[in-house]
Amino acid sequence: PGKNGVPVAENFRLEQSTIADTIQAGQVRVRTLYLSVDPYMRCRMNEDTGSDYLLPWQLSEVADGGGIGVVEESKHDNLAKGDFVTSFSWPWQTVAILDGSLLQKLVPQLVNGHLSYFLGAAGMTGLTALLGVREKGHVAVGANQTMVVSGAAGACGSLAGQIGRLEGCSRVVGIAGTDEKCSVLVQEMGFDAAVNYKKGNVAEQLRELCPGGVDVYFDNVGGDISDTVISQMNQNSHIILCGQISQYNKDVPYPPPLPPDIEKIQKERNITRERFLVLNYMDKQEASILQLCQWIQEGKLKVRETVVEGLANIGAAFQSMMNGGNIGKQIVSVSK
Ligand code: NAP
Repeated sequence: PGKNGVPVAENFRLEQSTIADTIQAGQVRVRTLYLSVDPYMRCRMNEDTGSDYLLPWQLSEVADGGGIGVVEESKHDNLAKGDFVTSFSWPWQTVAILDGSLLQKLVPQLVNGHLSYFLGAAGMTGLTALLGVREKGHVAVGANQTMVVSGAAGACGSLAGQIGRLEGCSRVVGIAGTDEKCSVLVQEMGFDAAVNYKKGNVAEQLRELCPGGVDVYFDNVGGDISDTVISQMNQNSHIILCGQISQYNKDVPYPPPLPPDIEKIQKERNITRERFLVLNYMDKQEASILQLCQWIQEGKLKVRETVVEGLANIGAAFQSMMNGGNIGKQIVSVSK
């Protein structure tokens, strides 16, 4: 798409090729079951991804990202045929030969057999929501805090609002791009209210829905929506700077600076806005995943997925997610 372009399905192509018949010591042959498409992948479509931790995808090389599969053959001591495994750099292939030491074994019972959750609510997405709230949200039980979540019906946002409530917020309001999304947030996910930012005056609606102002803002989108929310934030409140998807098709630094009038508000009201990167908290990964799985099993964390079938459709799934086509986590199911 170029630095300033909108990604489309045609940026990807599907090729057929043959993999080796035999695997080496330490390797496994896996069949892919699920692949994840995520907003950060847009940054991997630029030669300069804007982050040290993200490598650009190379032209005409196989793309990669979060994936889950089943081991079909193993020459790795800790993995056996039939094991379910995952990796953050899973190649977008139906079958692959991978280094077994780079794979994590999955326990399907933790998510009631719903394996794809390990790419979403019980994976990186859930970790981002949970650790974002815990590390940057300053949420406290009994503090009567109001949380606003942008990109609220997406993968991270839909979990972040529920987690904000579980951790102690007394009021949770979402901002999302369709009426259907807003209704899912309120009817299914337990948000107190939701605003469709494509309809009506967002500032006015927020003022009505957050009469005591905003104490915690889980920001997935940046841009105008965030400027509107920040204007209504209270003294000593906190922004969880999770992502800025509204800026990803633009050639701007990350995090994008706030407009001067909004920055003035942020400084005067002592609103924290520290960069948050889930990868910086991997020492908390194991305990956090267990917490997420427990909430899922107890029905305290409601999970939605939008599933697209077939590797051939992964480019279209990515395009759709970037344009708001998903509710909850966007997953690609890769059939046999
Ligand atoms: P997602 O929210 O499931 O999907 C993206 C959603 O963003 C779309 O469905 C769309 O929904 C919304 N959107 C797209 N363009 C927009 C725009 N211009 N203005 C407002 N909303 C827009 O994706 P996700 O995986 O949960 O990621 C959410 C954010 O978290 C992203 O910014 C991502 O980069 C960030 N993230 C950060 C970390 C970290 O470590 N900091 C880790 C993972 C993800 P609407 O219909 O509502 O527009």
